[in-house]
Amino acid sequence: MKVLVLNSGSSSLKYQLFEMPEGKVLCAGLVEKIGESTGKLELQIDDNRIEINEPFADHKVALHKVAQLLTDPQYQILNSASEIEAVGHRVVHGGERFSATTLITPEVKTNIQDLFSLAPLHNPANLQGIEVAEKVFAEAKQYAVFDTAFHSSIPEHAYRFAIPKELYSKYGTRVYGFHGTSHRYVANQAIKHLGLINQDSKIITVHLGNGCSIAAVKNGQSIDTSMGLGPLSGLIMGTRSGDIDPSVLFYLLEQGYEIEQIKTILNKQSGMKGLTGDNDLRNINTRALEGDLDAQLALDMYSYRIKKYIGAYMAALGGVDAIVFTAGVGENDAATRAKSCAGMHGFGIEIDSVANETRKKGIREIQHGKVKILVIPTDEEYEIARQSYNLILGKSPY
Ligand code: AMP
Repeated sequence: MKVLVLNSGSSSLKYQLFEMPEGKVLCAGLVEKIGESTGKLELQIDDNRIEINEPFADHKVALHKVAQLLTDPQYQILNSASEIEAVGHRVVHGGERFSATTLITPEVKTNIQDLFSLAPLHNPANLQGIEVAEKVFAEAKQYAVFDTAFHSSIPEHAYRFAIPKELYSKYGTRVYGFHGTSHRYVANQAIKHLGLINQDSKIITVHLGNGCSIAAVKNGQSIDTSMGLGPLSGLIMGTRSGDIDPSVLFYLLEQGYEIEQIKTILNKQSGMKGLTGDNDLRNINTRALEGDLDAQLALDMYSYRIKKYIGAYMAALGGVDAIVFTAGVGENDAATRAKSCAGMHGFGIEIDSVANETRKKGIREIQHGKVKILVIPTDEEYEIARQSYNLILGKSPY
């Protein structure tokens, strides 16, 4: 069965076509700069990469072009777009309304729209992708896979903020958490790999990409996570601050900054970028080795924050069986993994430095101590395809 996975951003559209249940990637790609005067489409089929540079007026034009390429006889991907039986959409915010992957109906779309205020940058783009896909792949079932859904199991004592309770009941001001599809995928992979019993497992999943978050996963369910109402809190990220004292906001307002300016600072000019001028850990590592003090301090802060959360989540879980590192930095940056776990041998957390530095495909165990430390490549697209496939078969998505 062919399942297409779509991740629709405000000016971009990522797509990946799977043959399920094998999980074979038939092709993958990206359309960028939608709505601009110059656009770019990439299509990757095995080792062949096709690039088309032309303007894409809107998401509809972009997805039509993708559908046209998928059915182009020269690429031999599909004979007809109707071969796609399911389209799985990444939707960032499911609020409290969606705790699981769901078939998209008119009511579901209205609910996604009602959540625009909680994810003003993402949900409108996600909904636009859904509406276009409904037209372009009219015969396929459309499913919404929410970034927040995995964290819907977080108990109230962890998801509430200690602010007047009307602010929760009236506006839904609480922790939702993000990167849920990734945390769920790597936690499941770890449970399988380690042969843990799902009902008796304590895992900390550390997603370190350009955005970063960490989750405490007990018996396969998220019980706490570091991102909150939005994606700003918790770990230090590429361009986002992570946790800061809210007094900083008022202080900056009093110094004459505007709200929009502060939003931009915290989302786009903070984190590693704010500290070093660069948000790519590869460059920051190189600079640190060359003696750059800003880079060294930023890396110390980055891994210290991760370590602090690992400690907190060990307490929340009542111990830990495994710590999983994933995403761009988590999968590739041995130094960050080593620093984040340093000095914790008293808790059974110790990295094997040789295994940590050895690059290999697939799942890697890099611990020297009692607690398993794993590097697991995340695959959010496959997870979205798998859940959509399960639903089309009438099974639980998970
Ligand atoms: P992601 O959001 O998962 O695609 O991760 C993107 C980030 O991963 C980039 O901003 C880089 O900072 C980081 N990254 C990718 N490769 C490496 C590497 N070899 N070493 C350190 N960081 C890396």
